[in-house]
Amino acid sequence: MAQCLQYNFSTTPYIDSHIHLYEYGEEAEKLCKEIHYIFLAVSDDIQSSLKTIEIAKKCSNVVPSIGFHPWNVKEPNIDFKQFENIIKTYNVKFLGEVGLDKKFVSETFNVQLHLFENLVAMAKDYELGLSVHAPNAWREALEVLRRSGVKIAIFHWYTGPAELLREIVNEGFYIGINVAAKIQKKHLEIIKIAPLESIVTESDGPYNYRGLVLGPAMLPELIALIAKIKNVDEKTVREAIWRNFYIILKNVGIC
Ligand SMILES: [Zn+2]
Repeated sequence: MAQCLQYNFSTTPYIDSHIHLYEYGEEAEKLCKEIHYIFLAVSDDIQSSLKTIEIAKKCSNVVPSIGFHPWNVKEPNIDFKQFENIIKTYNVKFLGEVGLDKKFVSETFNVQLHLFENLVAMAKDYELGLSVHAPNAWREALEVLRRSGVKIAIFHWYTGPAELLREIVNEGFYIGINVAAKIQKKHLEIIKIAPLESIVTESDGPYNYRGLVLGPAMLPELIALIAKIKNVDEKTVREAIWRNFYIILKNVGIC
């Protein structure tokens, strides 16, 4: 594989395809200097999107992703022009965290849908990848993506049904496997059914899941867990994840 991100990878990197790096404040730069990692750093609103872009300027192994988390959706009047300006100004290649959520914030679903449809259309226009959050709205999110014709989407921390997983994978989209799999049975089951060529790993750091503060340091352990479940060696898993992520980066024009 060719080099990309102006980075010389002497070993196969760990992939954190979903981390809220801006939330680490001063620590973010230290964290992104972890040389054997590549981060897709997601954002939750306009302000955090700009912070993420600043971090990525200092760390060549960080891919900045701008977004608007469905948990933050309150107003129907969202300034899409502002998003578009950020994409154009900074040559952004990824949108996330974006999506739909019927589990935690179902009351704002209609506004979420309006926002998500518009952002996905923007992703299509600018050939961007998407990091998609969709608890209890996996089907709805897939339908929006299908209608749009976007090529690259990662279903972050997928916990939806097995049949839908097959549809997602057949569509050429990816399944994000989170480090929390070791304590979340529902997610552990996803590792069993998701094909190795359709998964990427993620931390969602610094999210606190049932008392476990998630972070990229847990990724080697997740690789070992996936290897055990799939009955292959860790090297095979690590290389497969990097290959998958490399294809993602290539398709959005980064590598
Ligand atoms: Zn997240």
